[in-house]
Amino acid sequence: MTGLFPHFFTLLIYKLITLFNINFMLFRKRSASAKKTIGGANNPINKQPRSKKRVASNLPNKQMPVAKTRLYPSRTSNIKQPRPFQNKRPLTTTPTPMSPKKVRELTRPIQRSAPYRPQQISRVSDRRIQDKIPTNNNLKIYCLGGQEEVGRNCTVFEYGEDIIMLDMGIQFPDEDMPGIDYIIPNTKDLEKKKRNIRGVIFSHGHLDHIGAAPMMLEKLGNPIIIGRNLTLAMIKNRQEDYKKGTAQNLKTMSINSISQKITLGKFKISFFRVEHSIMDAIGVVIQTPHGTIIHPGDWSLNSDPAEGDVVSYEHLSKLPSPRILMLESLGVTYTKPPVPIKTTLNNLQKLINEAPGRIIIGTFSSQIERIKHILEHAEKTGKKVALDGYSMKMNIELAKELGYIKAHKSTFIIIDQIHKYPENKIVVICTGAQGESNAVFSRIVNGNHRYIKIQRNDTIVFSSSIIPGNETSIQKLKDQIYHLTDNVIHGEIMDIHSGGHATVEDIKTVLKQVNPDYFLPVYANYYMLIETKKLALREGFKENRIFVLGNGDLLEFSNGRPPKLSRNKVNTDYIMVDGLGVGDISDVVLRDRQVMADDGMIVVIATIYSKTGKLIGNPDIISRGFIYMKDNKNLIEDTRKKVKQIVMSGDTKTRESENFIKNKLRNDLGQFLFKKTEKRPMVLPVIIKV
Ligand SMILES: [Zn+2]
Repeated sequence: MTGLFPHFFTLLIYKLITLFNINFMLFRKRSASAKKTIGGANNPINKQPRSKKRVASNLPNKQMPVAKTRLYPSRTSNIKQPRPFQNKRPLTTTPTPMSPKKVRELTRPIQRSAPYRPQQISRVSDRRIQDKIPTNNNLKIYCLGGQEEVGRNCTVFEYGEDIIMLDMGIQFPDEDMPGIDYIIPNTKDLEKKKRNIRGVIFSHGHLDHIGAAPMMLEKLGNPIIIGRNLTLAMIKNRQEDYKKGTAQNLKTMSINSISQKITLGKFKISFFRVEHSIMDAIGVVIQTPHGTIIHPGDWSLNSDPAEGDVVSYEHLSKLPSPRILMLESLGVTYTKPPVPIKTTLNNLQKLINEAPGRIIIGTFSSQIERIKHILEHAEKTGKKVALDGYSMKMNIELAKELGYIKAHKSTFIIIDQIHKYPENKIVVICTGAQGESNAVFSRIVNGNHRYIKIQRNDTIVFSSSIIPGNETSIQKLKDQIYHLTDNVIHGEIMDIHSGGHATVEDIKTVLKQVNPDYFLPVYANYYMLIETKKLALREGFKENRIFVLGNGDLLEFSNGRPPKLSRNKVNTDYIMVDGLGVGDISDVVLRDRQVMADDGMIVVIATIYSKTGKLIGNPDIISRGFIYMKDNKNLIEDTRKKVKQIVMSGDTKTRESENFIKNKLRNDLGQFLFKKTEKRPMVLPVIIKV
């Protein structure tokens, strides 16, 4: 009991300080926003440092489990997070006989308020204001994701009673989110107005643009979805994976021709051609009474001038003013000229021609055009192609159904049949060139593939870019392959991959071609958006014509007046999806995973005679990820003694007293183990009554 009071008072004082801080910061925020209402860069939210995680030059179409969602506060417009809950340790160390529920109540707000305070404050004030806003006829643009990260791309356009959306992408989790499969945009605020949603346009079929569609469409009343054929087919496919038999319920509108025009409420939509690393990518023009929005989705200018096939955006400069260009800006840090697609394809053909034995090509499953060329070339040279990897097989199947791939069916062989053909007639195309441990490429290299073991005369090709963050695993994979064969080809040796994103020169070119009245860099990490803004300033754009929006920032255009950054902000809290379908139990699960990942866990099993409440025999101790028990016999013995002491000190006959003992075991053992090891494993007490 003696330790309880100081601890309790610390909590109380901390809470008071927190409350005081909130009021103070609310006051400061209000006065700040009263002074500055315009300008992305002037927006205090934009001045905070953002996450530095970078980009996929094109994200692989990774197959992932889809399950229930749960809420977690976003790190948007937020500080590079300290790993959550690291300093405030879990209950195991609190020397208190309070009920676990009470302890949780007391500790949780403090743990959460520390890392997330700035954002929570802004949201409290924002929400209050937002509820009062009447619908007006301003044009509102805001992003539910994609402005401070790569992925979770989702943009909303509102005019009066009409809403349209562009893209519904997923984001891959940070390393401090163990067990989380991906994050999707938050639809909470939009759900209130779901009747106004006139349609959702999808720019292309990469997962960071369509991955969240099944979950979001469901929440938003299943509005009509608009895209080109492959994009729609991929969304339907994902919908089937999410809930079997539901793809047929999707309302779709196919963009059959680039010159097609559609009207959604007050929005008039037309399209333009873009070059990107997936078939059927499309740029969108949205005309409204207050401006013309131009959004290419993901893009590059990677066309082949030799064939006169150059993508130009010049015609967009003739669209009605004000022209608002929203430009994906991932490429602002790419200074090297891109590898022409033709070079990539020629090199791949050469490799297929010259391979002494089998050729195994790892690439992104969304690189359908490249795979199509490989198939055509293999067919021409009398080779057989085996595809492997779920998303690879699925995407090629979709492309075949749509008539995009016309290779003869005799060109395809099933992977388990490859031994029936001469080795120099075999081409294998598979997923996993990013070093993902369970993907086909890794399994082949590690000798875990059922049908393929690498031999000396095999040629192994990495036809993909390195997604930042995957460098180490790819390097390891390369090392392993070099042990097995000398014929290893990757980007450092030969140009066998063309990226799907623009370079800094491309961005300059498009800015000149479109000559927008307002420029909004989008779909990238925050630092890239700012770099793009700086680039535009150097190119002569005026500061008051460039807006860098954070997630949830709301830019409003009204007739003839310069746009204004609204004081209202839309909720963009993270919605996390994990394969276990844990439901809405928020950050508690994540915190547990973090604790287990950091310091492991220890299970204490005490068997008790139910009539007397006496301990029977020695308690069992199981350690996972904490200590190696064989090398720590003394510690285990001491822990056992401690458990005996605690159990015998109390009464375990009633349920309340049993809970009390469990709580005490958790707390006292936690402290005891910390003293001995300086680690804080999760302590799981189990009491068995016989
Ligand atoms: Zn893309």
